[in-house]
Amino acid sequence: MKTNNPVCVTGASGFIAAHIVRELLEQGYRVRGTIRKNAKNYPFLLALPGAKDRLELVQADLLTTGAYDKAVDGCEYVIHTASPYKINVKNPQTDLVDPAVIGTETILESCIKSKSIKRLIFTSSIAAITDEPNSEKLFTEKDWNTMSSLDRQPYQYSKTLAEREAWDFIMHKRPKFDLVAINPVMVIGPSLGPSLNTTNQMICDIMSGVYPGIMDLNWGFVDVRDVAKAHLLAMENDAASGRYLCSAETMHMRDIVALLISSGFGKYPLPRLDLSGYAGSLLMKALSFTQPKDTGMYIRINVGRTMRLDNSKIKRELGISFMPVKESLIETVKDMEKWGHLVPKS
Ligand code: NDP
Repeated sequence: MKTNNPVCVTGASGFIAAHIVRELLEQGYRVRGTIRKNAKNYPFLLALPGAKDRLELVQADLLTTGAYDKAVDGCEYVIHTASPYKINVKNPQTDLVDPAVIGTETILESCIKSKSIKRLIFTSSIAAITDEPNSEKLFTEKDWNTMSSLDRQPYQYSKTLAEREAWDFIMHKRPKFDLVAINPVMVIGPSLGPSLNTTNQMICDIMSGVYPGIMDLNWGFVDVRDVAKAHLLAMENDAASGRYLCSAETMHMRDIVALLISSGFGKYPLPRLDLSGYAGSLLMKALSFTQPKDTGMYIRINVGRTMRLDNSKIKRELGISFMPVKESLIETVKDMEKWGHLVPKS
């Protein structure tokens, strides 16, 4: 074990963070998680094995100066996951960018004050690497998203600005602690709590008749349990440094639908019409203007392009091996059934 002091996990109530908390407790660590509401609202965290003796939950909001001082006090490691993950927000600046960027500054300032921090593990995203697939290019940790803005994919913009803020802070203030960023792609897998996070919501949408047909879309996926492990490995491995693109493999919408049908989930209103050819893509791009702004833009930017990602650094340096995405998808869907998120065709 790397430390006897508590490990601080911000946004402990979140889909990814809850798995990080679970993994830390399982490995014997003490954990101090930050939440926004009263701890009673998170029975799924309080019920985790080891939580009774080794989990402490403290309240903190990204937009409150000094909010994380108490949370990081006496810790050697901080895992900063808290950041709004939403699309189609009313005000991208106040709903996404401010909490992501100001929150990053707030947590970094608290880490400096604490004097005990050795490393901050920052949950960034593929969004900070690129906001669009490029069939001609293999994306690596060297790439930065330079396309997003408040008007174009503002969630991706918020993640890019937040990660840049973190690296700039380290470069200019030269604190005693270092920074390691984990940049996951679409994170799927079973949820410890009842809420449906944004990526699993997309799988739920595919199974709920939201899409008129199978589009020429593909995504990089990674299981949430592997993302949690990656954060721990980045904490435990002294040699870890820089950014880590955290992706198991990419999968096309056509293959996702085929897998779900062949795995017995055909009772749900999965799309059957193949719109993944040239004409279908043109149609989908035209129809995208009838969608909410960010969803429409996402379709126009992504349809017809292949995402290619290099995950060799994380495998080589952190020694991680990834769960096959097909297994992860099936478990995701079974978990959504368990929580009652899916409604079969009538
Ligand atoms: P969730 O929405 O499940 O979790 C987000 C967490 O951030 C919640 O704990 C939420 O608290 C907290 N949060 C949001 N706004 C604030 C705020 N103003 N003050 C304090 N806490 C706040 O998302 P995920 O678990 O999926 O995402 C976690 C991180 O991983 C994010 O940084 C996201 O960008 C990143 N990521 C996620 C991917 C995915 O596919 N899921 C892919 C790549 C990166 P509350 O519960 O109170 O709302």
